[in-house]
Order: sequence, then C-alpha cells, then structure tokens
Amino acid sequence: MPDSSGSRRAGNAVQAIESCNSTWLFDAERMRFRRVPKGTSIDVPAPPEEWEPYFSLDLADDSGAFVVALNQAGTRLLRSYRHGVPCPHCDANATSELSLEAVKLGYDIDGTDDT
Ligand SMILES: [Zn+2]
Repeated sequence: MPDSSGSRRAGNAVQAIESCNSTWLFDAERMRFRRVPKGTSIDVPAPPEEWEPYFSLDLADDSGAFVVALNQAGTRLLRSYRHGVPCPHCDANATSELSLEAVKLGYDIDGTDDT
C-alpha cells in the first residue's frame, strides 16, 4: 500500500461532484475516489480503506452525466449524474439511488451483498 495517510492534505487535487443523493470525491493525484451520502462532512480525512482506485473519470459538462472506469479495460464502470437545478434526475432516479444505503452500511460498491 502506498502511504495514504500522508504528511500533507491533497485537498486541492480532490474534485467533488454532487449527484442527487451523494457526493463523489475524486483524488486525481492518487487515482482513487470515494462516495459519501450527501450531508456527510468531507473535511474529515477518510481512512484509506474508504477510497477505491479508479482508472478514469469522464464527465459530460452538457448533460452532467459522468462515468467512472474502475479498470483500464473499462469493464467495470460506474455511472451517475451530477445534481443540477432544476434536476431531472432526482425524481427519475430516486429508487436506484437508494443503493447508497449499502454504501453507508458496508461500503460495497459492487453490490455484492453477502451479509
Ligand atoms: Zn438531483
């Protein structure tokens, strides 16, 4: 494992994207990200295990859609939408965003739920 506690905060390198129910944080310097429920304080440094590596982030400015590739082959993708005002996604995607509960409980972003 690389040194992830670090002697300095890489705050400037972290890009935050708000989706309807969560905040995505992308640490471009270390190519890792995490997703937290909206309202969670992101000023508190997260333990290393709460970050997940990613390969690329593709954010479409016009639509607000973004795709996170978790590997180079692009076979593991996460898709979401940036929350906007007005936001067409809050209503349409309310159900799917409920999966965030799983993130809160066990941070299992692949949805392999074997509790
Ligand atoms: Zn929204």
